Amino acid sequence: MYSDVQKDDLKRRNADMSRVKPVEEDYGKPLTPERLDEMIQRVTGWALLNGAQRKITATEFRERVEPVAITLFPSILPVDVLRKAKSLQTSFQTLIYKVANDHEFMKECFSGLLSADAFIKQLWDIYDTVRKEGPAQEVSVVITRNDFMMEYTEEGDIKQDCKHVEINTIAAGGGGRVSNMVDVHRYSLSLQDIPFEKEQLPDNKPVAGLAQGLVKAWQLYKCKCAVILFVVGIPEPNTPDQRWLESGILCIDGSIKVIYRTFPQLIKQMSLGKNRELIVDGAEVAVVYYRYGYEPKHYPTDAEFQLRLDMERSRAIKCPTVAIHLAGCKKIQQALAESGVLERFIQDTDRIKEIRSSFVGLYRLDTKDSSKVITQALQAPEKFVLKPQREGGGSNLFGDDLRNYLEEIKESPERSAWILMDRIQATRHRNRLIRAGLGSECRNVVSELGIFGFHISTPTSELENIECGYLIRTKPEEANEGGLCKGLSCLDTPFLV
Ligand code: ADP
Ligand code: MG
Repeated sequence: MYSDVQKDDLKRRNADMSRVKPVEEDYGKPLTPERLDEMIQRVTGWALLNGAQRKITATEFRERVEPVAITLFPSILPVDVLRKAKSLQTSFQTLIYKVANDHEFMKECFSGLLSADAFIKQLWDIYDTVRKEGPAQEVSVVITRNDFMMEYTEEGDIKQDCKHVEINTIAAGGGGRVSNMVDVHRYSLSLQDIPFEKEQLPDNKPVAGLAQGLVKAWQLYKCKCAVILFVVGIPEPNTPDQRWLESGILCIDGSIKVIYRTFPQLIKQMSLGKNRELIVDGAEVAVVYYRYGYEPKHYPTDAEFQLRLDMERSRAIKCPTVAIHLAGCKKIQQALAESGVLERFIQDTDRIKEIRSSFVGLYRLDTKDSSKVITQALQAPEKFVLKPQREGGGSNLFGDDLRNYLEEIKESPERSAWILMDRIQATRHRNRLIRAGLGSECRNVVSELGIFGFHISTPTSELENIECGYLIRTKPEEANEGGLCKGLSCLDTPFLV
């Protein structure tokens, strides 16, 4: 999909990364320091206006917000890469659905790690209890985000391909606050008179699709007065993202009520009706949408696990069920990459080929054969990432931390709670990162592409399987992990070439 001119340009850009040129030079419009200062002010102002916000906690005004970290300009991305990542979305959603409904497979994957990971064991017990009791609700909904990083293919440093980092099946965020980001970057380009074609910065509103997913689930519950419950954190920097989703829901049907509750509030206010209706403060809940509950620290006592169990048992439609939450674990991702496993769930060989082409090496650590990859990772930790069964960022180990920890657990049963993954050699480019308190220096950066979608199903059929837009986050090349709310990654927009 590249013209010769673009190929030459990409080669030139990547030839000398030792000197970090200002990104505006790439766009052919150098900025004076004064002009840069003005641009930053105006573009962050625009970002704030367009909902690229995070909440600042511990202030008198509980809804005080500031702009999230953003890039000054959009980052160049080959259109083929975006197209491929988008086309994989529904396949990944089908896969996760099939895994979550295949108890034998789930058991094979998790049995070895339940004794090594107390948190996963608790979730497993909830899943298994409700499975044995028989669920009160056949319908389930999930909002997913599949994350990818771009890598050069072996055909030389020109063609890029997307490599799967992970699938998020619980609390996959960012779809709201990214939904007007393209306008921010259209604005920054126009301020600098940088020309672009409409299709190079196309509209992208994941929140509209995600809201539709929740509304469709709400409709399937068939009770006009029932509400959608957003389970949120304390503190909750993601409130603006959630408000976008609420607003998307109201745009579709202004009669739907959304309520927000934390775990401690639910422990006090929630009960189950005689037909296992989920009742909060007198209101029947049609859909439980979790933006919380994915980390051990969200469950400080048994009461939180009991709460999750009661919600799981209820008639409310869960986004997601515990089964789907578990199916999003790294252990499942690793198992799916083993030889012949995709074939268990998907018949179409072309689709299998396409999915597999996005995988990098994923390795279990609990078999006799694991010693080989453990030795490789101890010798060259920079080529791997060590991952536990956790979400929300900050749990993976890289470099020396990886080596030290792997050395410690390599002989112990605890190793079965972790997987090793090849480290993706992400393509570098340049951009200016506008992050509070960190200046706006031009950096060598890498981008991560997340594709959103929703999936609605019963155990016997897929009712909806929709891809609905994307998000790009960009971080300094030396940063191991991203994280929008932690201020490490910057919200970005692909400039398609
Ligand atoms: P979490 O579920 O905690 O978000 P991820 O698997 O998404 O965990 O990893 C967090 C971050 O670590 C990613 O967003 C990415 O920046 C980095 N990362 C994860 N896996 C890889 C990998 N294989 N290669 C390079 N970077 C990775
Ligand atoms: Mg994740």
